Amino acid sequence: MTVRDRYAPSPTGLQHIGGVRTALFNYLFARARGGTFVLRLEDTDRARSEARYVQNLYNTFAWLGFSWDEGPDRGGPFAPYVQSERFPRYRAHAEDLVARGSAYYCFCSSARLEELRAEREAAVSGGASAETGYDRRCRALGADEARRRAESGEPHTIRLKIPLGDGGNVPLTRFQDHLLGEIAWKNSDINPDPVLLKSDGFPTYHLANVVDDHLMEITHVLRAQEWLPSTPLHVILYAAFGWRPPAYCHLPMVMGQDGKKLSKRHGATSIDEFRLQGYLPEALINYVALLGASYEEGKEFYTLDELAALFSLEKLNKAPAVFDYKKLDWYNGQYIRMKDSAALAALTLPHAVAAGLFGAAGTEPDAEQRGRFEAALPLIKERITFPREAGEKLRYLFSEPPLPTREEFFPKKADRAETARLLAIARAITGDLCRAEEAEAEAIVKARAEREGVKLGDLLMPLRVAVTGARVSPPLFGSLRILGAETALARVDRAHAYLTA
Ligand code: GLU
Repeated sequence: MTVRDRYAPSPTGLQHIGGVRTALFNYLFARARGGTFVLRLEDTDRARSEARYVQNLYNTFAWLGFSWDEGPDRGGPFAPYVQSERFPRYRAHAEDLVARGSAYYCFCSSARLEELRAEREAAVSGGASAETGYDRRCRALGADEARRRAESGEPHTIRLKIPLGDGGNVPLTRFQDHLLGEIAWKNSDINPDPVLLKSDGFPTYHLANVVDDHLMEITHVLRAQEWLPSTPLHVILYAAFGWRPPAYCHLPMVMGQDGKKLSKRHGATSIDEFRLQGYLPEALINYVALLGASYEEGKEFYTLDELAALFSLEKLNKAPAVFDYKKLDWYNGQYIRMKDSAALAALTLPHAVAAGLFGAAGTEPDAEQRGRFEAALPLIKERITFPREAGEKLRYLFSEPPLPTREEFFPKKADRAETARLLAIARAITGDLCRAEEAEAEAIVKARAEREGVKLGDLLMPLRVAVTGARVSPPLFGSLRILGAETALARVDRAHAYLTA
């Protein structure tokens, strides 16, 4: 079977992790099976759908770097792919169901429905009845009378007849879910005769979703588990139309670390925010692909193409996935490490410019500063999780670091006088260190420490603080090479004067 699957978001909010995970799994499944991945915009909720959310969707996936084969922006054999452009189809199909006796016109006014709702709520809370929702009054109308009233222009909706049992038998609606197995849902637990077409002619989600999945020849529906309660209703709709339902796979839930469903409460869940915080698309894709799926034992890094080759529904886990920021951050750091210098410079430089590394905030580097920045990136590549950290960590290479307290310079057990003495010894080799390669620099320091009878670490600590402004810093020898002897010696002298003042 040629797979056709889809991502069918409602443009009523920004793209978030859950949606991207659904889109990604559909994309991967289609790729793995040589199939077609469709984007369909489910904008039937006109009040809540907004153009900016559609734009956010396009921007998000352009940034993530994967896309659909058919969709509003790409066209395709089943266009249009935007539900608000397909309204006549939904009306025709709803009318078709009425003609088949599987749906009916409902003339109940919204005032009556409101009254009914209030009554039923009171009854439920009083313990009198568990019945909720519509009381199916118009289901009992004769077909001819109903048609006459509808044709005379009386406002009406179209409701689906949920099959009811006879004589105490509660019918079940059954379907197979790839992950959850066979599901048998009591029809009495389904919203009683849900509206398919509203009185203004707009379809509801259920009608539009099912009609489009059928017309667009969708073979597999991979969607979030929160849609599971809608599926029995959809299965009934397919049967009412005489259509074959697609295969269903409701994806494992994604939870926050507190065990609650992932939501805004768990921080930056819109993809835009992840992007702004400096997450790399590769890291996000790699991490999201693992939310509820396992691929190869022991393998942690996957490119999109590798995932596409490996993905299958068998790789999905039943258990809910937990969204772990620490793990995502770890991936981000790892992907930063995989960047070559030019790519890393492109990622980090804008942040450094904004943070004022090269002058006032926003000042672009001149050629020399740019070269120095790029040369310094290998020093911190292993030590950052986000691109914005690079500039901060390298600031001491572009401006003299503020002098910390004197104690900061002291190696363990050394006092101020001893520290000044150690710094003076280090000064004698500073020029050489600035010119030496790594191994050679180590040898120079080691030889000098032995000759003076001091510990290697004790010799280096005051020098490190003098040059970088901190006890913990990027590699010292590399920093010296980049700063050059003149600047390094000036900093050592400044520190020495400070310690001996
Ligand atoms: N429009 C629904 C949503 O916003 C689609 C659910 C489905 O995939 O059927 O997620």
